Amino acid sequence: MTPLNYLDIHTHLRTHRPDAVVVASMSVEEILTLSSSQKFQCAGIHPWWVEDYKTDEILKLKVQIEKLLSLNKLWAIGETGIDRSSKDTLSEQVSLFHWHLELSEKYGLPLIIHSVRSGSDFLQILNEKKPKSPWIFHDFRGNEKLVKDLLRLHPECYFSFGISLDNSPLSRELLPLVPLEHVFFETDDQKHLDIHDIYLRASHFLNLDVDYLKSQTWMNFRKIANFL
Ligand SMILES: [Zn+2]
Repeated sequence: MTPLNYLDIHTHLRTHRPDAVVVASMSVEEILTLSSSQKFQCAGIHPWWVEDYKTDEILKLKVQIEKLLSLNKLWAIGETGIDRSSKDTLSEQVSLFHWHLELSEKYGLPLIIHSVRSGSDFLQILNEKKPKSPWIFHDFRGNEKLVKDLLRLHPECYFSFGISLDNSPLSRELLPLVPLEHVFFETDDQKHLDIHDIYLRASHFLNLDVDYLKSQTWMNFRKIANFL
């Protein structure tokens, strides 16, 4: 039997090990040129871009993302989100998040979410909007209560772990408390992070085989694909 590939649910990198399948987050350049070289890709306006780009540039990105959607080029929308460490742009981040949310519901695509100290914002939005499309929190750094509250409001929430398994004792403690049917792993923008090592760390903290984790994350991925 050929071994299963590693599923990397969120990456900005463009070089991957041959046995990894990735969901590639498109860069500004890729969005502007509508380049779509990856099998699974997502596009969105990162909350940090609000600071880096002017209003007309953000507008252009929105137009391009809608084009990618109409061309059926995206597996997911994002990353988008709310980052409370960038306070000055908060209201713009929130309104952009709602724009992404509406698109994910309209096209029935998952949302890839960047959340920094914004768990309660997302709970409030779930309460109000009651979305149906899957929500994938990338580099999730919440706590067990937040996981439970999010899943209660939206059973199609998923939680992805990456570099935090290296550098955050809280994330290492949290991972075994998240239902495995809602877990993914990722490299994000970490050039020196190998997805294999993340699975290895997770397998250590969960006391489960790497192969078991691979097959579980593929099951989760297929469940999302079937949902779509
Ligand atoms: Zn990212």
